[in-house]
Order: sequence, then structure tokens, then C-alpha cells
Amino acid sequence: MLNDIFEYEGAVFRPPREWDSLIIQAAVGCSRNSCLFCVMYKKKGFRIRSFEEIKNDITRIPAAYLGSVKKIFIADGNALCMASAELIALCEYFKKTFPALRHLSVYANPLDIHEKTDGELKAIREAGIKNLYVGIESGSDAVLKLVKKEGSYAQMKLALERAHAAGFVISVTILLGVGGKAYSMEHARRSAELMNETSPRFINTLTASIYEGSGLIPLIRSKKFEVLTDRETIDEHYEFIKCLDADRVIYRSTHVSNMLSLEGTLSKDKEKLLETLAKFKDENESDPSFNLLKAGGRNEF
Ligand code: SF4
Repeated sequence: MLNDIFEYEGAVFRPPREWDSLIIQAAVGCSRNSCLFCVMYKKKGFRIRSFEEIKNDITRIPAAYLGSVKKIFIADGNALCMASAELIALCEYFKKTFPALRHLSVYANPLDIHEKTDGELKAIREAGIKNLYVGIESGSDAVLKLVKKEGSYAQMKLALERAHAAGFVISVTILLGVGGKAYSMEHARRSAELMNETSPRFINTLTASIYEGSGLIPLIRSKKFEVLTDRETIDEHYEFIKCLDADRVIYRSTHVSNMLSLEGTLSKDKEKLLETLAKFKDENESDPSFNLLKAGGRNEF
């Protein structure tokens, strides 16, 4: 795998759909880094890497392999926050360097989308970035505030609409359990409402897990956040899908953090997805652990 040639700064992450992409680290970390549930970039100071650094990485690739690169994922957490001119220059350089390149993707924070003008978004799309992976996490303002994810329902909605108008293929992430017990149903319903209003091409659900260093741990200890049990997570997931009426959306809940793997096309497969969740709940109802806390396998914090 070509990615083994690079020496990345710290751990790099990519969406599951980018498993066969060359990962190029154009920035290090996440410029926002405020979300309590996210530990991905907590140990990294944010910086944009220079063009020279990125070129030096690419010179490590043997010339014979340059023609085999078809997909590039531009890391880290929110490389879309780079100045538009720099990002566009980088895309042009990638296209010249990798003649078979046909797919450029990046993570996009909704507020980073708002920091671009409509013209800039269009120019970035025309430069070749096709897929935006947007971490929405929740459509509930109360949940976003609780877990310190910057932005509101209205800002997320407008960001998705503007990205869509610029021609991007949008893949959204919703984080099950991120509102804890207090906001579980509100989180499910408001997130579904946001999806219904914006119809992204892909909806991905992950499940909130409590890792070492998570900013949720102090909230749990001070009783401001109660982790969902497995049963409650299934109930929340069920409510989310039940409230979705978006059409022609590819729905994926296949991340390793999820209890069971679900995949389908909405609205065609909605009933099938709901039946699978209901069956899973029935099968596990008598298992005592189904009603215990479950967050990254931990019951104590
Ligand atoms: S969830 Fe996204 S925006 Fe929030 S800290 Fe993690 S990478 Fe940054």
C-alpha cells in the first residue's frame, strides 16, 4: 500500500469509503478540536503543512506507481479550512502528478464550509474535490452545546445546502448516543429532521464511545452526561431511522463502533432496517448486559 511510504505526523484517520485512497496529510490535526467526544486529534497541535512538505512526501512514491493513484483523501481533520487558493493549487498539483486521479475527498467541518464564499466552494469543486465528509454529529442544538461541537442546526443546514449547491457529493456523520440519556430522543428526531431537510447522498451513523482522554468523562463523573445502554442505543437508532423520510440516500451504519452493521438505500430499505433493529432488540432483551452501560466496553469512569 502506497500509504506505507509516508511518515505521517501522528495517527491519521479516513472515512471507511476511502479505504483504497492515497492519504495525503495537507494539514495536521483539527483547527477546531473542541468537541468533547472526539479524541482523534487531541494530541496534535493544528498546522497547515507547506507545499514543500507535501511535495517531499510525494517524491517518496516511486515514479512507476504515480499512474496507479486514482483516489486521494486529503487529511487531517478539516483540511477544507486551508485557504481556498492553496487548496486549489494543491488539487492542480495532484492532478498533474497523478495522471489517473479521478477522486479527491476531504473532511469538512460545517463552519469551514461557511468560511468559504459560494464562488470559492465552486472553484474548489471544479479543482477536483468531489466528496465532502461532513461531521454533523447531531441536529439538536442542545446536544451540540452540551458536547461543545461548534455550530447550530441552522448553520449545519445552510452549510449542507451551500455545499450541495456547489456540486459536492456529501456524506454526513451522525453520532448515536452523543446526547446521552437526557437528549437521546431529541437527538434522534432533530438529526433526522436535518437529514430530511438536506438530503445528503450518504448518511453514516457511528456510536459515541468513551476513550481515554474523552472530554465526556468529566461530564459523566459530574452526572451531566449519562451514557446510553445498548438497548437505549438501539432505541435511539430506531427512532432516528423511523423519522427519516429522505429519499435516494445511501444509509450506512457499518463503523466498528456500532453494535450491528446496517446498510441500505432510503427510503426503499427503511422498513427492512427498522425490522433488523427491532429483531436485534428482541433477541438481546433477555441478556442482562444489554441493559448495562456500554461505551467503548467500559462501565466505570
Ligand atoms: S469531531 Fe471533527 S471538528 Fe470536532 S474535534 Fe473531532 S475532528 Fe475536530
